[in-house]
Amino acid sequence: QRMRTGLAKTQASLVGRIDALLRGCQGVDEELLEELEEILITADLGMKTTQQLIQSLEMRLDKGQLNDPDVLREALKGEIRDRLMQESAPLDPQRATPFVIMVVGVNGVGKTTTIGKLAHQYVQQGKKVLVGAGDTFRAAAAEQLEVWGQRAGVEVIRQAAGSDPAAVAFDAIKAAQARKADVLLLDTAGRLHTKVNLMEELKKIRRVLDREMPGAPHETLLVVDATTGQNALVQARLFQEAVSVSGLALTKLDGTARGGMLVAIGGELGLPIHYVGIGEGIEDLRPFDPDLFVEALFR
Ligand code: GDP
Repeated sequence: QRMRTGLAKTQASLVGRIDALLRGCQGVDEELLEELEEILITADLGMKTTQQLIQSLEMRLDKGQLNDPDVLREALKGEIRDRLMQESAPLDPQRATPFVIMVVGVNGVGKTTTIGKLAHQYVQQGKKVLVGAGDTFRAAAAEQLEVWGQRAGVEVIRQAAGSDPAAVAFDAIKAAQARKADVLLLDTAGRLHTKVNLMEELKKIRRVLDREMPGAPHETLLVVDATTGQNALVQARLFQEAVSVSGLALTKLDGTARGGMLVAIGGELGLPIHYVGIGEGIEDLRPFDPDLFVEALFR
């Protein structure tokens, strides 16, 4: 239900317009597909993903398999679902103890909030959780994380502002091992204006984690803001090149008409979307389910 409400605007901007197009059409032809292409692009599915979708629809049209608007709608729905189904190791904390999740992303996308929500979820599942305050660059970052830590009832490992983030990572993983934590959530900086430094910093954190616990981090979760549309895709590529991102959390899906970018992200990056944020509250994080998403969109 929340997923439905969260997607209301995207539903209108994407499927609402598709349905209007299909209602008025005389039949399925090249011209209709061109109009569909325009809708998909303006609904933030991205150029590349849109072209792939249209091409595969054209192929079906040529084979005479797309004679009716309802068939076209179903075909499009199926193609979109396929692009969201990325195979990945599940984000399953049973895989290691402590299960280390390094959280990366640009400032303001909702990283802190997502860490707080995730911590809460794991606590609800009866897990012992630690949070590491790896953004030592922004003075307020650790404090903000502390607030979320208190809300979720978990301890935050931090050092003074300006200290080495890799040292925080070291402390955090040591503490997680010593206290037999099930999950360690490690926040990191997101200052994009010093891009090169930031990426080096993230790589160093990864090296420290892997040295202290071979295989860690077990998940590198990239947080992106759905309201930024195609810009999120650019950010994702940047992080993907520097640190091997293993999956995504997409925030602020509530209230945006740009949910179409989920399809672009799934299709173009080949990364699984693990979570979607649908509000500012501690409960407002949902595991992402491509089937539910597509059903809510094409209801
Ligand atoms: P950070 O700089 O990446 O750590 O970003 P924050 O976690 O501080 O979040 C930035 C803003 O986005 C805050 O006002 C959050 O309440 C808001 N926010 C985060 N996630 C969501 C979400 O899923 N939905 C909405 N509506 N707001 C969110």
